Amino acid sequence: MLYTNVFLKNFKIVKSEKCTFCNSDCEHLPHLFLECCFVSTLRKTVLHILHLLSNGNFKLSQKSFQFLDVNGNCYVKYVYLVLLSEYINTVWYFRNEIKVNKRNFIPTDLVHRFLTKIKCRIVLDFNRLDSVR
Ligand SMILES: [Zn+2]
Repeated sequence: MLYTNVFLKNFKIVKSEKCTFCNSDCEHLPHLFLECCFVSTLRKTVLHILHLLSNGNFKLSQKSFQFLDVNGNCYVKYVYLVLLSEYINTVWYFRNEIKVNKRNFIPTDLVHRFLTKIKCRIVLDFNRLDSVR
């Protein structure tokens, strides 16, 4: 369960239900992950990667991920899960860093952290998976 500001305001834990990122709309899950303008740069990055994946034959070439500097073959279904889980993790991490720790970020900070984590996940996960086969 992700306790957004809308949820927290219903229980009188916070005073405002406004979005932690943009402070213009109510912070509920669809806004936070699908609509918020602050997250749009990260969202577009993820959609671009998904678009690259959907154009293939369910196998990634090294060329598809060359900007991530990942070696070896990967399989799309695992990459989808990694992308989506890291997307949610990244948005929620930055939301909490801003809300709780009062830190300031720009939208590209989310993209940088996301791509770094994706690179690590792909290298670690796919090295592990390849060793099982
Ligand atoms: Zn917002």
